[in-house]
Amino acid sequence: MSLVVIGSMAFDALETPFGKVDRIIGGSATYVAWSASNFYKPIKAVSIVGGDFPKEEFDKLTERGVQFEGVEVVHDGKSFFWSGRYHMDMNTRDTLVTDLNVLAQFNPQLPESYQDCEFLMLGNLVPAIQKSVIQQLRKRPKLIVMDTMNFWMETAMEDLKEVIGMVDVLLVNDAEARQLSGEFSLPKAAMKIQAMGPKYLIIKKGEHGALLFHGKHVFFAPALPLEEVFDPTGAGDTFAGGFIGHIARTKDISYENMKTAIIVGSAMASFCVEKFGPQRLQSLTKKEIDDRMDEFVELVNFDIDLVGA
Ligand code: AMP
Repeated sequence: MSLVVIGSMAFDALETPFGKVDRIIGGSATYVAWSASNFYKPIKAVSIVGGDFPKEEFDKLTERGVQFEGVEVVHDGKSFFWSGRYHMDMNTRDTLVTDLNVLAQFNPQLPESYQDCEFLMLGNLVPAIQKSVIQQLRKRPKLIVMDTMNFWMETAMEDLKEVIGMVDVLLVNDAEARQLSGEFSLPKAAMKIQAMGPKYLIIKKGEHGALLFHGKHVFFAPALPLEEVFDPTGAGDTFAGGFIGHIARTKDISYENMKTAIIVGSAMASFCVEKFGPQRLQSLTKKEIDDRMDEFVELVNFDIDLVGA
């Protein structure tokens, strides 16, 4: 059995109030894989890169139990490139460049070895590709989780809605939930989005935490108040990796377990933002993850002794 992860593998150029990098490894699949590999193996990746994507990046992830048979390498092509600039609050950013490059021609052929997929994480990518992978799996996975972003709402809304109708859990940020539903109120947006298909909706709110909606139920996971936020790039994908990694490890797809999974996702995202790109995730130890989970428990744990009337 395996966790299959789809997404971009990319080069990013980033600008935050604290620094600037012209070319650093990124991509939704890269962040999801780094994060989820702390909890589950094997992870089978589906993506496409150009000949410029460094072999050592594959090697480092291979050591973590990530497999790449489903990743196409176009030797004379260029990898996906994305560039973003963060505002002073670090919660909002402008996309400066999205160069699809080899991604524009990607038509994934799922390897036979991926048919053992038990959990499917559709990282942020062209909706038609996300759909194609769902359709190529002969047995429906136990849980299909999908991440997406405003870029696809603006360029491929119809395809996007079709894929949303095929998944169990959708992850978006608050602005995207509003854009997708046309509702300002997040509970109203959540009802509309659940009516499109997914029984569970996670709305990420950056430093203000994340909400998990299921029917009329809602659960909140805070974000850890951090002294230093250096670069939020990949935090959403890292959250998704922690979420699906925890679910795959426990094999429990109940709403109760999803509550724990969004705390795990929040803990993983809190590491991601501490350094540029995926660097912090690459140096992470199990002890650091355990300690941070304890910090989350402490953050939300309280006693209450209500005085009767
Ligand atoms: P996040 O900060 O979690 O939204 O993820 C940022 C990562 O997503 C970056 O490393 C980018 O390379 C990647 N990315 C940005 N835009 C797209 C897109 N339209 N499709 C796929 N991946 C993207």
